[in-house]
Amino acid sequence: MAKRVYLFGKDITEGNGSQRNLLGGKGAGLAEMAKRGFNVPPGFTITTDVCAEYYANKRKMPAGLDAEVKKAIAVLEKRTKKQFGGDKNPLLVAVRSGARESMPGMMDTILNLGLNEATVEALKAKSNNGRFAYDSYRRFIQMYSGVVLHIERLNENEHDPFEVIIAEARNKRGVLHDNQLPEEDLKAIIEKFKKLVLEKTGKHFPNDPYKQLEGAIGAVFASWMNERAILYRRKYKIPEEWGTAVNVQAMVFGNLGDSSGTGVAFTRNPANGENEFYGEFLVNAQGEDVVAGIRTPLKISAMATTPNLGHCHKELCEVRKQLEKEFGDVQDFEFTIEDGKLYILQTRNGKRTARAYVKISHDMVKQNLMSPEHAIASVEPESIEQLLAPVFHKEAYQKAINEKNLLTKGLPAGPGAATGTLAFTAEKAERWATHGPVVLARVETSPEDLRGMLAASGIVTAKGGVSSHAAVVARQMGKVCVVGASDIDINYSTGILTCGDKTIKEGEFISINGSTGEVLSGKIDTAPSELIQVLIDKTMNPKDSELFADYDFIMKLADKYRKLGIRTNADQPEQAINAVAFGAEGIGLCRTEHMFFKGDRIDYVREMIIFAPEYAEYKAKLASRPGDAVLLENEYHISIHHFNHALKELLPIQQADFEGLFTAMGDRPVTVRYLDPPLHEFLPSSKDQIDELARKLNVDFARVSQTVSSLQETNPMLGHRGCRLGIVYPEISEMQSRALFRAALAVAAKSKKTPKPEIMIPLVGFEREFELQLEIVHRVAKEEFAAAKRTLEYKVGTMIEIPRAAITAEQIAKHAEFFSFGTNDLTQTTLGMSRDDAGHFLPFYEKNAGIIKTNPFATLDQIGVGKLMEIAVQGGRKTRPNIKLGICGEHGGDPSSIEFCNDLGLSYVSCSPFRVPVARIAAAKSAVKASMAAKATVAVKTIAKKTAKRR
Ligand code: PEP
Ligand code: MG
Repeated sequence: MAKRVYLFGKDITEGNGSQRNLLGGKGAGLAEMAKRGFNVPPGFTITTDVCAEYYANKRKMPAGLDAEVKKAIAVLEKRTKKQFGGDKNPLLVAVRSGARESMPGMMDTILNLGLNEATVEALKAKSNNGRFAYDSYRRFIQMYSGVVLHIERLNENEHDPFEVIIAEARNKRGVLHDNQLPEEDLKAIIEKFKKLVLEKTGKHFPNDPYKQLEGAIGAVFASWMNERAILYRRKYKIPEEWGTAVNVQAMVFGNLGDSSGTGVAFTRNPANGENEFYGEFLVNAQGEDVVAGIRTPLKISAMATTPNLGHCHKELCEVRKQLEKEFGDVQDFEFTIEDGKLYILQTRNGKRTARAYVKISHDMVKQNLMSPEHAIASVEPESIEQLLAPVFHKEAYQKAINEKNLLTKGLPAGPGAATGTLAFTAEKAERWATHGPVVLARVETSPEDLRGMLAASGIVTAKGGVSSHAAVVARQMGKVCVVGASDIDINYSTGILTCGDKTIKEGEFISINGSTGEVLSGKIDTAPSELIQVLIDKTMNPKDSELFADYDFIMKLADKYRKLGIRTNADQPEQAINAVAFGAEGIGLCRTEHMFFKGDRIDYVREMIIFAPEYAEYKAKLASRPGDAVLLENEYHISIHHFNHALKELLPIQQADFEGLFTAMGDRPVTVRYLDPPLHEFLPSSKDQIDELARKLNVDFARVSQTVSSLQETNPMLGHRGCRLGIVYPEISEMQSRALFRAALAVAAKSKKTPKPEIMIPLVGFEREFELQLEIVHRVAKEEFAAAKRTLEYKVGTMIEIPRAAITAEQIAKHAEFFSFGTNDLTQTTLGMSRDDAGHFLPFYEKNAGIIKTNPFATLDQIGVGKLMEIAVQGGRKTRPNIKLGICGEHGGDPSSIEFCNDLGLSYVSCSPFRVPVARIAAAKSAVKASMAAKATVAVKTIAKKTAKRR
């Protein structure tokens, strides 16, 4: 049987830092710290495999686990020289969750487990501190009752029933803080707590420490499936199968008096990346006090001058340096000081904003503290988009300041500027966000507020420090956030936020700056981020932007590692220029139909479409009755005129557009996809539009109206689109080819650049379709090159976007020089789900029925659509080993789909211009991950070889 429980501590540590999958991030971090000599209280980790067993076993503990846990407890008893449930020197433990990826605040923790009526007295005698013993006991009952017995507040407008009891005691005693309550009050509170438990559950609070432990372990496993953990996993695409580990660790006490305390710290500032020791602590407190935001903690630097704790500050500064050196990244760690002795309770790579990520990676790589591979592998590619987030518009901000709209300054916890309507509850934030940006304001947030935090553009809290729940979660989500704005008063029942003599009602505008901590009343316009100002607007000198310097360093590093090329989907020169500024190396998809929407050119397209069917009829008749040429010309003269007139008008327009694109892209490849309009997108729909078009074309309303209705399709997405149009009306492909070659030749003649056109035929399913279009392209190229007396290199390839093309790729590759996966249509046709209509039922499939994990139109369905891609790649390479392969569906900008493309060995991904930075870094991360995995496999094989030899 696989090992289920791993010990850690000073003398025996059975796991190590590389076992994240099995021990969870926290368990692996604890094992590694213990191995490296940090002062870690001993404990053990129950593996994530047990979590899987627990769920496979219908949420029951697997047989035999209790015996293994008892054995591990016995080891702990020996190490600590304490007894679990003992009435002399009782061992108390902390029980914490710990998944592979940390999910701050999403799952449950229980401290002080092992206390009961007897052990609390023993703890009192041993510590000679009754207040401490009973404070620990009341905390334990409170946490255990919430987490294991589910006695909680019913909704977000209600207060926690246990907190109500404590508040009553504080009022009665006339004190502000819990730590001012004497032992007798705590005893009375405990009695009330127990009564509440009996009332709510019909059972007495459990006394047996092993029963308590069993309940706690089960509750931690169960918390993997609580609503907020599910929501969090969905947001961060954490697979459900991973499960959580459980860490059971001997308690050390930060609430033992004034020479004790507890805190949370980051080795660098996780909000902006500054190289400063960043954290906070509370004297005489336990861990949850810091995170819960009930007491406002002190900055770490203040510890240096805190009586009895000055020496710990020095030690902590040393730990800070050591942790970065040992773990090669910013660490987010928790510590407790028990009677002047410092313990490190856990460490993990710190979650950080994108701003902090680029700065920290830049600084630590340069300081040789972080490996460049780790800098790339540790990025959340999506988060890079945060760097493009707006800031306040300078003048609008100044106006707000002049008008004295600055209410207060809290702690900056998530950079960027947000302005929106004020909402006090998660429910309102979620509802109102559908109409416009919302700023969620809470006294402090708790995991139940997650929905509202996701929906809001910004979050502000009145209480809590930089490691409070709000700060930690917002930072990770990349939300603008201000915490601990203690001057504001948030009154949930009246719906009014007050700050001094100013008030804002829910529903009115509020603005916050998560980079400075400012909270302002009213709406303040926002302006583009520095990156946009440097790269796109060119209104800022790159030298003046530190953000740009850090970003540029990381992007160049990414370019060193990535194997995938990065292209962009662009059909306007400006889009192409923006994409190049972000690092695009070519255009992977120019949708030519998009070029026709502008100005009155749509009328020519309409003219072309409307007269095309009759023109085709004319041509068919002419082919079978060549002798009747004059007769037929007379009969069809209106259609012949309009169809050719439209093409004639469109040719120079199209040519000018292509020239714009070629000029913008210079020597970079430009993939031009031939016309692929679902016809319904182009036809006039209302009576007025038809009337206007008929007048412009000088033809009968009835005639236009009739053609429009005859062209209506039941399934336009599967209708006469893509190359089917160019097959039936080859004149359209001819016009596009002519425009393209003329443009490329003109740009080549005018500039020193050599355009690299790559012509892409859409919606091919049959080899012959491609061949027919290819003939047109080659013929026109020949004619245009002859006329210009020069040639240019060009490629002709196809989109792979219907299953038949993927399956017959081997044949198609005889003619096609490249494939580009059109995964929008390939998803639509593989799944048989219309991309226009799937939105109606996909959310149900995902959230209610659990049929799919993510929207397949956003994240590639690797098992189904991916399989077809694999088939096409194999088929294509069989015929043409060096065939160029790309992707240009929306998935080309999605990090997990990019990873799939990297592993498939595609040549490039193509995405919208503003996704280019994300794609660049996602491509690099995929390459680093793949090479790390390959190295690990080699290492395993080498070890196996050596072992075999030894045998
Ligand atoms: C596709 O189908 O993936 C594609 C890029 O083409 P379009 O979205 O224009 O159909
Ligand atoms: Mg398509």
